Amino acid sequence: MILEVKELTKLFTKHQGATEDHIRIHSVMTDSRKTAKQSLFVPIVGENFDAHDFLGEAIKQGAVAALWQEDKPLPRLTPTDFPVFFVKDTTKALQQAASYYLKKVDPIVVGITGSNGKTTTKDLVASVLKTKYRTHKTAGNFNNHIGLPLTVLSMDPSTEAVVLEMGMDRAGEISVLSSLAEPDYAIITNIGESHIENLGSREGIANAKLEITEGLNRDGALIIDGDEALLKDQQAEKWTVSCGFGQHLDYQVTILSLTDESSRFKIGEQVYELPMPGKHNVKNATFVIALAEKLGLSAEEIQQGFRELEMSAMRFEKHEGHNGALIINDAYNASPTSMKAIIEVVSQLTSKSRKVLILGDMFELGEQSETLHESVATAINEKIQAVYTIGNHSNRISEAVAAHSPAIKTRHFTDKQTLGHHVRNELAADTVVLIKASRGMKLEEILKDLVD
Ligand code: ATP
Ligand code: MG
Repeated sequence: MILEVKELTKLFTKHQGATEDHIRIHSVMTDSRKTAKQSLFVPIVGENFDAHDFLGEAIKQGAVAALWQEDKPLPRLTPTDFPVFFVKDTTKALQQAASYYLKKVDPIVVGITGSNGKTTTKDLVASVLKTKYRTHKTAGNFNNHIGLPLTVLSMDPSTEAVVLEMGMDRAGEISVLSSLAEPDYAIITNIGESHIENLGSREGIANAKLEITEGLNRDGALIIDGDEALLKDQQAEKWTVSCGFGQHLDYQVTILSLTDESSRFKIGEQVYELPMPGKHNVKNATFVIALAEKLGLSAEEIQQGFRELEMSAMRFEKHEGHNGALIINDAYNASPTSMKAIIEVVSQLTSKSRKVLILGDMFELGEQSETLHESVATAINEKIQAVYTIGNHSNRISEAVAAHSPAIKTRHFTDKQTLGHHVRNELAADTVVLIKASRGMKLEEILKDLVD
């Protein structure tokens, strides 16, 4: 159980139904198509839908109480003893309920933002913290003004630590999430170019990420990418812990070796192994070590957490492809920084000699979109044999590659099926294929043509 219905009467004043009852709420339902026994129905009003139309469905699926936006008429047939709480805005009320529940459970709260690496770092933090605490984390990428409160309301009352991913498209959004979650520890993984369209500049992006400090516990810590010049000013603050490859940082990491599957690195004299490739993941792990040490975890506990890592889907997800090729699906999302980071990882893979990139459009890059697409070509060298692009913008990548490295095969496609069939015919045991694009491209749909 997360709440009793009567607790909601403390939060929301206007209500109908049996609100004094000890009705127990076990979960929150926003989608009435899914069964959720003993749930609180929270009808969200979206751009293209209004879940207030589905109260009857929600009750059939297990709702035992509901929040209700007061400007919406309550269906005439609603039982008079069914508890309904009238609120101005159901999304805000959901956030209010989450804030109440979070204070009641009172776990250690870790908030994670940044342009890239939030989900990866969130999964790493949770894996390490669970060696010592009962830990709950954001499922997948549920990181916005609705996903975060739902994450909070899905945690068990016995939770001792909660790890919350905080995402944003524009200024002010992290502020809302930080004020709700009041993190004890905040991590800013990096400052990239995603959403530059809404934020104007990289400075604008940095300021938006720094909104995470608004709710941050004064006795807590702000753990940041110490290699990022735009965050340099923060290093003067007492609560800041800087992490990265540069000199004079609080946590300076040195890479010992990188393989196709893992990395070895050291901080001070302590050596760690991470079951993930890529320099950027070494940095993500450094944030986690800084946090874990603040919480008093030992190097052995941290190492155990790294070993037991479970990753969210579509991040460096490996599949056995047709003819024994290796297919890496990283199509969850993309930005120039993350695309370059993963191309570097694929370039350095030693298990497959023939490297093929399937790259799709990156969205929300505004006026700089063309230049930022072209900039990806700087990460592509002759360790890569072929670059195939798809969409309305990514032709800039293949054209830039063709211009500076004519030895690399390039071709732009306009539909996934043609692209999928083309690449399938090129697959062999020595081939690795990377699939990467913004979420809206749904580029993972190509996977079915590449596996048997
Ligand atoms: P989203 O905004 O889509 O939720 P995210 O911040 O959660 O993204 P992840 O899903 O963890 O990011 O990783 C996305 C991509 O970013 C991966 O492809 C990975 O290669 C790259 N990446 C991960 N960490 C970093 C980092 N510290 N710096 C740059 N790129 C990174
Ligand atoms: Mg994410």
